[in-house]
Amino acid sequence: MAEKKFKRYDPSILYGPQIVGEKVRELLKGKYEMIPKTQANIKVNPKKCIGMTCQLCYIICPTGSYEMVNGKAMWKFGMETCSECGACQYVCSVGAIDWSYPEAGTGIVLKWS
Ligand code: SF4
Ligand code: SF4
Repeated sequence: MAEKKFKRYDPSILYGPQIVGEKVRELLKGKYEMIPKTQANIKVNPKKCIGMTCQLCYIICPTGSYEMVNGKAMWKFGMETCSECGACQYVCSVGAIDWSYPEAGTGIVLKWS
């Protein structure tokens, strides 16, 4: 699976992909595969999102699935990258993130052998 590199803008912040992304990928190497998702299973309600004053989902997401677009969070890369950890929905204090698992048989599939 091709690794996607993400640029984060504020050098004073350690973003999720920098903190745990590489370590998690290393630990899980060869133990999972990503089956392409067929529809967006996570959505941000821009009317609820308080955007640049928060940015928590964007900062914490270990796979860099979020981008800040026009001052609001957007699940921009998640169709290819989201690891279904669930962290983003818990850090959103205003309930702007509508979270669900991807369609059965798609997304992260762990290999047990
Ligand atoms: S559930 Fe997906 S989008 Fe949300 S924090 Fe985890 S990896 Fe990122
Ligand atoms: S955590 Fe919620 S309020 Fe904060 S940027 Fe993300 S969607 Fe917006």
